[in-house]
Amino acid sequence: MTTPEYSGVTGYAYHLNAAKFAMLLAKNATERFNVEHVHATVNDVSFGIDGSIRSLLTDKGELIFDFYIDCSGFESILLAKRFDVPFIDKSQQLFVNTALVTQVPTQDFEKIPPFTIATAHKAGWIWDIALTQRRGTGFVYSNDHMSNAEAEAEDKFDQYLGGKLAELTPRKIPMKVGYRQQFWVKNCVALGLAQGFLEPIEATSILLTDFSARFLAERFPSDKDDIDYLAKRFNETVSQAWERVVEFAKLHYCLSDRSDSAFWRDNRSDKTIPEGLKQRLKMWRNFIPIAEGFPSKFEVFNRENYLYVLYGMKYFTRPTYSNAEVDKRVFQHLAKMKLLKSKMISELPDHRELLDKIRLYGLQSI
Ligand SMILES: Cc1cc2nc3c(=O)[nH]c(=O)nc-3n(C[C@H](O)[C@H](O)[C@H](O)COP(=O)(O)OP(=O)(O)OC[C@H]3O[C@@H](n4cnc5c(N)ncnc54)[C@H](O)[C@@H]3O)c2cc1C
Repeated sequence: MTTPEYSGVTGYAYHLNAAKFAMLLAKNATERFNVEHVHATVNDVSFGIDGSIRSLLTDKGELIFDFYIDCSGFESILLAKRFDVPFIDKSQQLFVNTALVTQVPTQDFEKIPPFTIATAHKAGWIWDIALTQRRGTGFVYSNDHMSNAEAEAEDKFDQYLGGKLAELTPRKIPMKVGYRQQFWVKNCVALGLAQGFLEPIEATSILLTDFSARFLAERFPSDKDDIDYLAKRFNETVSQAWERVVEFAKLHYCLSDRSDSAFWRDNRSDKTIPEGLKQRLKMWRNFIPIAEGFPSKFEVFNRENYLYVLYGMKYFTRPTYSNAEVDKRVFQHLAKMKLLKSKMISELPDHRELLDKIRLYGLQSI
């Protein structure tokens, strides 16, 4: 039995084949919304007299539009390269800046874990994301704490891949850690990696992309006169979101109890922790995080996200009050969770089995 689409018995997220998903989005846009999809390489742009972009100069000719969305990844061809928007560097707070990535083919009978596996190592961590036919894996590290040569010779990733690292020919991806000072300039908005990048933990890039795209869609200018105030609001809100994401990503590192390498010692050092996070951590020593501590509607990570990491990393907050009534409610809740957990373990299907069924029969319609 499966549940209808979008109504799983508990919270869930997806592991997607990004290339296939991009094709699906393109198909949806062209077939359902009559979007014209032009494949072209942008070589340059031309500007109007007010400094807005007038046209894109591409290998398929000149393309003229009213509004431009820069989704050119790390290249940031419009926002960074044409508007010269300065970069806010966050590499002194979040250290991992290089990834060795590789895809590992899997067999039909192999289990698919229904979660991302993250394994720490002495200068970063390894991600492992399973799809139906392959696992996407990556060894992320701080180049300031482990040289590229050391990383490539590092046994940990090779062992992790069962001694097959050499035959899987990993690709090296340097990552520039930080984000642009503005994301919307004149008639151009950057989305995705063109805005910036922090690191792969918690897939914050896709989250910020989705957050920014939705914000833009809900406040899309219908007139040139709207641009100034909409751009100001967009830039302020999205900058705040980036700052909070820096804090949330750093939380995973600064609460570590590891002191066996410079990477972990530096991550725990007070001077590498953003001021806002430091203040919150101090407060949470004495007060349980409450919803009011996350007042902004634009907070990308909420109280529950913080609670999982805080308590998962054994950062115990002191309850401000405790009495028999509260204790009773807590124990009742814990007993309910325990019951739910054992029910789910016994009733929910194996992940691959579920995916195979969905592929064969689809999901129940809503
Ligand atoms: C190491 C690493 C690991 C990551 N892991 C994950 C993950 O597990 N899960 C997740 O959700 N996100 C992950 N991300 C983030 C992920 O990369 C982004 O969410 C997503 O790919 C961003 O898409 P994008 O469109 O901004 O950039 P990209 O995917 O880089 O796309 C940019 C596109 O612009 C094109 N382009 C560039 N210049 C030009 C030009 N001049 N003319 C025409 N086209 C041009 C490029 O060809 C490319 O197709 C990871 C990122 C990194 C760096």
